[in-house]
Amino acid sequence: MDLTKHAFFEGKIVPLGEAKINIATHGFLYGTAVFGGMRAYWNEEKKRLFVFRPYDHFRRLLNSGKMMAMKIQYDEESLTQLTLDVLRTDNWKQDIYLRPTIYKSDMGIGVRLHDLKDEFCMFVMAFEKYVKNDTNAHVTFSSWRRIDDNVIPARGKVAGAYANSALIKTDANRAGFDEAIVLDQNGHVSEGSAMNIFMVRDGALVTPPVTDNILEGITRRSIIEIARNDLGIPVVERSIDRTEVFIAEEMFMTGTAAQVVAVTQIDHRPVGIGSMGPITTKLRSLFDDVVRAKHPKYHGWNLEVG
Ligand code: PMP
Repeated sequence: MDLTKHAFFEGKIVPLGEAKINIATHGFLYGTAVFGGMRAYWNEEKKRLFVFRPYDHFRRLLNSGKMMAMKIQYDEESLTQLTLDVLRTDNWKQDIYLRPTIYKSDMGIGVRLHDLKDEFCMFVMAFEKYVKNDTNAHVTFSSWRRIDDNVIPARGKVAGAYANSALIKTDANRAGFDEAIVLDQNGHVSEGSAMNIFMVRDGALVTPPVTDNILEGITRRSIIEIARNDLGIPVVERSIDRTEVFIAEEMFMTGTAAQVVAVTQIDHRPVGIGSMGPITTKLRSLFDDVVRAKHPKYHGWNLEVG
């Protein structure tokens, strides 16, 4: 992490090294923070940086805040403008990751959401791959269950809820797997530790609905649109049973950090032919073009930093 790069903190653009919160801060004590995760991609031909779907990311962030009784002075437009200001300060010329957060900023003890101040902050870091084996990931079914929407809002990115994701990821990695599939309380496939799931069955793309305790992923939404529009593949949003994934033709996971990760083995069973399938291959390549502003049809998703 480069502490000399700039962040947005307490209403100002400051070097990351100066963006510090007190140990008695509510968001730190109780996980009462909501966050987003965005990427900006460097386009080498255009020599320009493009943020991917910032407006949609900020809308989800503000919605996560709404669920947690948070209110800040910024809307999607002003957060997008502020992002441009932060990025221009450092004149980034590489792929980066942006982490905006809204947190309960009062200091002191008392578990609640009301009568507390909310603060917005954001930092930026250089970022490449999140999952090393992103063309041949081996995943397992986690023994943990995905948080239920009636426990902590599952469709929001609530910081405290990521203790669940951390348990899932660490146990999977320590057992030698790249990632895990998490079931919800009903035993249906929900998602990965920080990524949504798709499988291919009978040539159609199938993914759990937003009512199966998933995070409403922006990559998920983008992939659904690209698959329908550019590959002409039907996409079905329905619950997925555990054993269905063993007989899927292809499987992949999606997320801002993860991008599109091909899953080629599940608990030592090959997915399809055991290597990245044709639909996953096409979607990975299309997605890369789309996020780097190389696909004119989707230019509305690319915000040029300039
Ligand atoms: N699920 C969870 C739990 C996540 O943390 C993420 C990453 N934000 C995703 C899914 C993927 O969402 P997105 O495509 O918007 O990054």
